[in-house]
Amino acid sequence: MCAIFGVWGVENMLAAMLVYNGLRAMQHRGTGYSGMVSFGPDRHVYRKVGRGVVQEVFDTKTLAIDLPCQNVLGHNRYATVEDKEGGSISDNAHPIVGSWHGIPVAIAHNGNLTNVTDLKNALPVDSCVTSIDTELILRRFCLTFTDDPVVAIKQALDGVRGTYSLCLLLPDMMIAVRDPSGNRPLSIGLRDDGSICIASETSAYESVDAEYVRDIAPGEIVIIRDGGMSVDYLSTLSSKRYAYCVFEQIYFSAPGSVVFGESVARFRVRLGEALEKHCPALTGTIVVPVPDSANFIAQGYALNGRSGKLQTAILRNHYIGRSFIEPTPELREDRIRHKFQSIPGLIKGQNIVLIDDSVVRLSTLPHVVSLLRKAGAKEVHCRIAAPLIVGSCHYGIDTPTLDELAANRMGVEDMRKVVEADSIEFLTLDVLRGLNQEGEFCYACMDGKYPPSMEPAEL
Ligand code: SF4
Repeated sequence: MCAIFGVWGVENMLAAMLVYNGLRAMQHRGTGYSGMVSFGPDRHVYRKVGRGVVQEVFDTKTLAIDLPCQNVLGHNRYATVEDKEGGSISDNAHPIVGSWHGIPVAIAHNGNLTNVTDLKNALPVDSCVTSIDTELILRRFCLTFTDDPVVAIKQALDGVRGTYSLCLLLPDMMIAVRDPSGNRPLSIGLRDDGSICIASETSAYESVDAEYVRDIAPGEIVIIRDGGMSVDYLSTLSSKRYAYCVFEQIYFSAPGSVVFGESVARFRVRLGEALEKHCPALTGTIVVPVPDSANFIAQGYALNGRSGKLQTAILRNHYIGRSFIEPTPELREDRIRHKFQSIPGLIKGQNIVLIDDSVVRLSTLPHVVSLLRKAGAKEVHCRIAAPLIVGSCHYGIDTPTLDELAANRMGVEDMRKVVEADSIEFLTLDVLRGLNQEGEFCYACMDGKYPPSMEPAEL
């Protein structure tokens, strides 16, 4: 899970400031690395990347000097174990830069390729300098013989499996592409000065005074030049079988975004209503979300009042980021320990229905329930909005190995005991499926059925 933000045609030379704000608005999609690339009039490559969050990597006082351009491509990368174990500071940061017939090109990617070995074998030995799959697309692009960059990207992506929302920057154009499954979001925004933005999430547009125009369709290629925008389609677009990641709706995306055609916040409220309908907690007096990802789900859960009233009773320290995206167990546990704070005055003597979005490793919930107990809760009933997670994700989410997934290690009753809750219930997959358009979503980490178009070739 990563964030892409590109902007083309900003009137003044402050495109980098817009990308800075756009990336900062999507910090939740990745805190491992941040990077930006732009090209000068002489095709000089400006690239600034680093480890950490946007504010740590870029200095706003020098941004306009470091990247003095009208067109800039930026990226936040979600750190994986791979990032921790090796590589120099900038090795695995996007955008990556290459040379296509002597013309510089930068690429930023959100997703994950599933036939990396085949793609590597098809390239000359030692073609890649990083360990990231995105570079395989870049190298394929740079090796094409055509002088048309749109034909080049089609050729480069022909035979590439997995998921990719991409943005490429060349000196005279920006190209955005979404893979035929549409697994990760990517959209177009427009500013008053006529500049065009490409963003992983629509909520980023507000921070740069842009209007969300539309999503890039699965398999669509959007080409942006000084004269305007045109579209083309991938040659691999054979069927309209989409595989939108349902976890974007449940957890990853910001509530203010529109993802896969629906407001994320509105989806989460619907999800909460469905959870209450199928998993009520009739002795509950207050419904408490695990903040922030379960806030809107809890709102939906409490709507009819049958299982208690909505009450914010746990606070989240906003100076501590998402524990899920920490690459090691030690870092995750440390982050969870310091992430939440209870409000005893609102908890004491209550029967609490604790709402969480999902259980992956079962590392957060025991800690939160113990906070509630210490604060004097009488009963604690956990209700989880995602079905049991039993499979790994091969499409850009660094989910744990099968053994690390709590649902593969123990049954629901054992989870209840570990959590020390009075009850724990999960939404069923059938109910979750019923909330979305049939045949358009990926649920592979819940049902093990990997969409045929992106089935991992290397399992
Ligand atoms: Fe999303 Fe799960 Fe599918 Fe991965 S496997 S794309 S996390 S629904």
